[in-house]
Amino acid sequence: MPELRFDNQVVVITGAGAGLGKAYATFFASRGAKVVVNDLGGSGKGEGRSSKVADVVVAEIIAAGGKAVANYDSVEDGARIIQTAIDTFGRIDVLINNAGILRDVSFKNMTDKDWDLIMAVHVRGTYKCTKAAWHHFKRQKYGRIINTSSASGLFGNFGQTNYCAAKLGLVGFTKTLALEGKKYNILANVLAPGAGSRLTATVMPPEIVKSMDPNWVVPIVAILVHGSNMQETGSIFEAAAGHFSKIRWERSEGALMNPREGFTPGAVLRNWSKIVNFEEGVEHPKGVSDSMGNLERAMILSENVA
Ligand code: NAD
Repeated sequence: MPELRFDNQVVVITGAGAGLGKAYATFFASRGAKVVVNDLGGSGKGEGRSSKVADVVVAEIIAAGGKAVANYDSVEDGARIIQTAIDTFGRIDVLINNAGILRDVSFKNMTDKDWDLIMAVHVRGTYKCTKAAWHHFKRQKYGRIINTSSASGLFGNFGQTNYCAAKLGLVGFTKTLALEGKKYNILANVLAPGAGSRLTATVMPPEIVKSMDPNWVVPIVAILVHGSNMQETGSIFEAAAGHFSKIRWERSEGALMNPREGFTPGAVLRNWSKIVNFEEGVEHPKGVSDSMGNLERAMILSENVA
């Protein structure tokens, strides 16, 4: 297999001053890309700011012979981040929406600030950066996007209602970007990563944090944003501790009921074992149209009843 290269491409990585973002930035620079290293440099809870972390990563890349520029804006000012790419390197090819914070607290004790800050960084930040990059991608008929979700968002996690809502929201956002971007060769995928970092150090034992190298997550991001990926879009991948996998929705075959039975709770309960059965007849819906499959039959049945 030839080495995946990104020569002459411009890659914007948000939150690239530490953790996963730093691993992406140094990798893409080492493979020929010009990199925008964005980082606000605040605390893990989203307070304060500093130019230091982004500067350190840029200095590392330049010392290794690569090309990079720092940007210190919050992802909420996505237009300024993308403008840094255009002003410095003249284009943007890849956007990796990675910046993130945590404000973990049980739902009972969650404040509006905990909720709003998480939504602002993860959802609005991803939206603002993507919005600013989109017209460049569309014009050049090329763009690759990674949006960062989390196993917490996909499955739920105690003390993270805010973070989980934001991270699953990004799945719907990405799946829709994939639909709207396909005809312009803009591909968008979701990554739920796992790595030792400042964020995971707050919730994982130190030995696990140490053993989960952020660099191990990088390969799947490289594959998904490379020009040789022409098909994979709107998908959700997990990458952690050297394990890579894809996630999809599953629907039970369910029960198609006849209006003559009456749509009462009792009638639905009589079919309950079929509704919750994942042993056979499962489907993997790919779009809204896959939820409409029974509509025609329902219309015929209701006409017959009428
Ligand atoms: P990290 O704290 O090491 O890095 C995140 C970076 O984002 C920090 O350098 C921070 O300064 C920056 N940042 C925060 N808010 C910003 C803002 N408003 N604008 C610009 N930069 C900002 O964390 P990490 O573990 O590398 O996490 C990276 C992403 O991966 C996050 O979105 C996180 O939610 C997600 N994630 C990480 C894990 C994991 O196991 N590490 C698991 C699931 C999801």
